[in-house]
Amino acid sequence: FRHGEASDVIVNTPNGPVHFGENHPLVVIAGPCSVENEEMIVETARRVKAAGAKFLRGGAYKPRTSPYSFQGHGESALELLAAAREETGLGIITELMDTADLEVLGEVADIIQVGARNMQNFALLKKVGAQDKPVFLKRGMSSTIEEWLMAAEYIMAAGNPNVILCERGIRTYDRQYCRNTLDLSVIPVLRSLTHLPIAIDPSHGTGWAEYVPAMAKAAIAAGTDSLMIEVHPNPQKALSDGPQSLTPDRFDRLMEELAVIGKAV
Ligand code: PEP
Ligand code: MN
Repeated sequence: FRHGEASDVIVNTPNGPVHFGENHPLVVIAGPCSVENEEMIVETARRVKAAGAKFLRGGAYKPRTSPYSFQGHGESALELLAAAREETGLGIITELMDTADLEVLGEVADIIQVGARNMQNFALLKKVGAQDKPVFLKRGMSSTIEEWLMAAEYIMAAGNPNVILCERGIRTYDRQYCRNTLDLSVIPVLRSLTHLPIAIDPSHGTGWAEYVPAMAKAAIAAGTDSLMIEVHPNPQKALSDGPQSLTPDRFDRLMEELAVIGKAV
């Protein structure tokens, strides 16, 4: 799996190039689970940028367990992400679920997310491998490390070397307290197995905002290159993943706490 030394994924954003990699500052990606409306996405973008995030996240196409849950605003949400990008200069990361949406999504996304539920959607992997945008590949919730690396290999074999691996928690037997079990042991393991940059998502990893800061700090201590954190201006009203979303104020404090952990933010 290892293609030479640890290497960076460099992403060009309106605010300049951002390096994901071992010898660079921590890259923080933050924003709501779903793009809900223009006001909330632009407001969140401003706040997370001021706190030090380099990328805004926000789902336009949402992979929901129930077909009756909010499915995302689709193409109109992509336009709102474009507005937030224009306003703040933040890079945009958003999930692609259907290869049919690649072109329109690629117009606004600086990084394309492949979600946990699609980690082994090989048709999707081949398509994102055959285009130029970096890919943020989330670990399937029941996937082994080898399956995950093979999924990354699909993207690279199709011609795109720019893959970031994101651990987002694996299936847990103790749903009572955490949504998933965040497997931080993958950080040193991946470091030994692959040259690819590593990201940790403590929001989906725990499912509860109150546990996010501790796991974000632990991930930095273990050597992560990047963090993805859900932030919502009013978590109680969120259309998806409210319970695990930090308020902008709590995110500000977390960013201050992270700065003292080690890897400069
Ligand atoms: C998300 O990032 O909002 C998401 C759906 O993540 P995952 O694929 O890890 O569940
Ligand atoms: Mn989410």
